[in-house]
Amino acid sequence: DVRAAATAGGRSPDSVTFGAKKPDDSGQLLSLLVSALLPVLLIGGLFVFMMRSAQGQNNQAMSFGKSKAKMFVANKTPVTFAEVAGVEEAKAELAEVVEFLKFPERFEALGAKIPKGVLLYGPPGTGKTLLARAVASQLDANFLKVVSSAIVDKYIGESARLIREMFNYAKDHQPCIIFMDEIDAIGGRRFSEGTSADREIQRTLMELLNQMDGFDSLGQVKMIMATNRPDTLDPAVLRPGRLDRKIEIPLPNEQARLEILKIHALPIAKHGEIDYEAVVKLSDSFNGADLRNVCTEAGLFAIRAEREYVIQEDFMKAVRKVADNKKLETKLDYKPV
Ligand code: ADP
Repeated sequence: DVRAAATAGGRSPDSVTFGAKKPDDSGQLLSLLVSALLPVLLIGGLFVFMMRSAQGQNNQAMSFGKSKAKMFVANKTPVTFAEVAGVEEAKAELAEVVEFLKFPERFEALGAKIPKGVLLYGPPGTGKTLLARAVASQLDANFLKVVSSAIVDKYIGESARLIREMFNYAKDHQPCIIFMDEIDAIGGRRFSEGTSADREIQRTLMELLNQMDGFDSLGQVKMIMATNRPDTLDPAVLRPGRLDRKIEIPLPNEQARLEILKIHALPIAKHGEIDYEAVVKLSDSFNGADLRNVCTEAGLFAIRAEREYVIQEDFMKAVRKVADNKKLETKLDYKPV
């Protein structure tokens, strides 16, 4: 037990005895110094060893160390395109990308270029992550999710290395979809390179572009990136051969909201005759994630009323509650710092 050893070292009776002795000549002084320093060095060494082994364990778990910059390798619960509602155009395009990746020979024979990467852009909570997972599921591929901002925020001096690690990991786990969320955090256009943070991001971006350019050697590894600020992206990221496909995932309109609401509501509203249109009328500017929240809240209202199913009233209360919360969030967003 390394930790116990380290603690025991610190309390070593030897170091206490030697420390208490009074030196009476230089030989004794030297031996005192050695004796006093030895436990310190030992503890320091053990500490470094502990840190290293902890890091090693993290690497094995492939969770980028200690922070939120986790890499999620998951395909345990497959997602189908049917679970993502109201984004028909995007689904059609992605289904085509899936075909491309599944049967590249068929498309190459016709002279078509296989896309290397896809950019999904649009407001948060509209299903970009869900769609990326659906693509991975269709391809029976591993799904590696990385939040770009967490990489550059947390790992000063390390982020370029992490990008390399990420690609290496994906190569070892083919077929694999790398999903990088908030890509603008790394691939955003920069007008100055003044601060060290700027230089760090620049280095990370260069590494990312390098890795993407080496894509032909990546085999069954594909990239999907997501952003809600496509206009801020460095043109280098969007160049052909990097993110070839750009697909917009817009905020859902009323019809799309109805479809999304039904997907999330049907499992909980089995026994009720629900007027979904009436609910959706109150969900102006809601995204998919908000509509899922409405269903969760409706379920909670039903539980509070000790009912086993959700009725219209629960949905109406829930949609108002989520709308109120959204208003509050918007206000907080604009609060001066
Ligand atoms: P984004 O990546 O665009 O921020 P997510 O894919 O993480 O959004 O969406 C969060 C959750 O909201 C999803 O897991 C899903 O439950 C729900 N959701 C969002 N958009 C849709 C949609 N179009 N259809 C069904 N559910 C959706």
